[in-house]
Amino acid sequence: MRLLWLGKINQMTAVYIHFPFCVQRCQYCDFITYAQVGHFIPAYVEALKKEIQLLLPGKAKASSIYFGGGTPSLMNPEQVGSLLEEIRQSAGINDEAEITLEANPGTVSPESLTALRQGGVNRLSLGIQSFFDEDLRVLGRIHSADQTRQSISQAQQAGFDNLSLDFIFGLPGQSLVAWKENLEEAVSSGIQHLSLYSLIVEPNTPFERDIKSGKLQLPKGDLVADMFELAMDYLPTQGFNQFEISSWAIGKENESRHNKVYWQNQDYFGFGAGAHGKVGDYRVENTPSIETYISKMAEPQPISGFSPANVEKIFIDQYTAMQESMMLGLRMTREGVSENKFRARHRANMTQVFKDEISTLQNNGLVEWHNLPGGRHLVLTRRGIMLGNLVFQEFV
Ligand code: SF4
Repeated sequence: MRLLWLGKINQMTAVYIHFPFCVQRCQYCDFITYAQVGHFIPAYVEALKKEIQLLLPGKAKASSIYFGGGTPSLMNPEQVGSLLEEIRQSAGINDEAEITLEANPGTVSPESLTALRQGGVNRLSLGIQSFFDEDLRVLGRIHSADQTRQSISQAQQAGFDNLSLDFIFGLPGQSLVAWKENLEEAVSSGIQHLSLYSLIVEPNTPFERDIKSGKLQLPKGDLVADMFELAMDYLPTQGFNQFEISSWAIGKENESRHNKVYWQNQDYFGFGAGAHGKVGDYRVENTPSIETYISKMAEPQPISGFSPANVEKIFIDQYTAMQESMMLGLRMTREGVSENKFRARHRANMTQVFKDEISTLQNNGLVEWHNLPGGRHLVLTRRGIMLGNLVFQEFV
């Protein structure tokens, strides 16, 4: 079977753990996550341990572990610690591993943050979205801006020196001035990483209904583009360098290593209900149902390197793998796609395989070649960063 050699060639293991529980669903959210089912959490954590035990033994030590959701900060620190211990027992954890946990203000306390930090979590990603209470109400978030400020300060006091904040911009009623104030407060709060996403109105969400009924109005596209440009211009003056379309960090050491695994099109294990993973030539996806996931793990039957919870196993042919390397790699605004690494990985020349696509994008001023220490890299221009979707469409 194809998967038998995977752990051997991959010298580092990246682990994503999905925790699909939230206090309540935010108005705009279409993630795989559930509210009011917290009674499943203990059984879910046990099921996660079983999936880890099935798939990680024999693999290289974990170099990055990411607890995403959902709201992983609804797990108590002992549960997080028990999952880390399971990974340690199954494959080991590299001494330098980046261990990230997504948390929402309102679900953490000084005690829980201290216990998480002491238990090995060394990076916290806070989903704050805005420092304005009116924005938080529109989004249906459970927390207030003051709770956000408290959580940031508590995380810093607990010893988190790699702290990331998530924001959404382009919100109904949001002005450019208010957006700038958000960024200024973020910068002055002493954090190390920012993820900024423009609001996407997902189908079948309460948010979409409110937009359609006219109850909420989105800002005009030009204003949203201005907000993005403002971030691109302002944040570097404050020491935050944009290293990916939506990501800024102070210093390379604070650039999310786990997310780079995705953008560099590398393998990662995805554990939990609704989790996605990439193992060798396959992209896999687990059942989105918490109950089904728990029952699949009750007496799990290993299936040649795959998880019994998988509901999708999509074989990635060579051409698709090359398309993915282009689409994901170009997201990294500084390094883009290395010509030499592409050749080593795919045994093909990207300038031949994607000759027409690259030429079209160059002619439209969306990509350009940079000479970096490792050779030529294809990277987005500033216009390409602004119009990323146009670029990625070329490789679909
Ligand atoms: S906290 Fe995050 S995952 Fe949970 S409902 Fe809100 S947006 Fe969705």
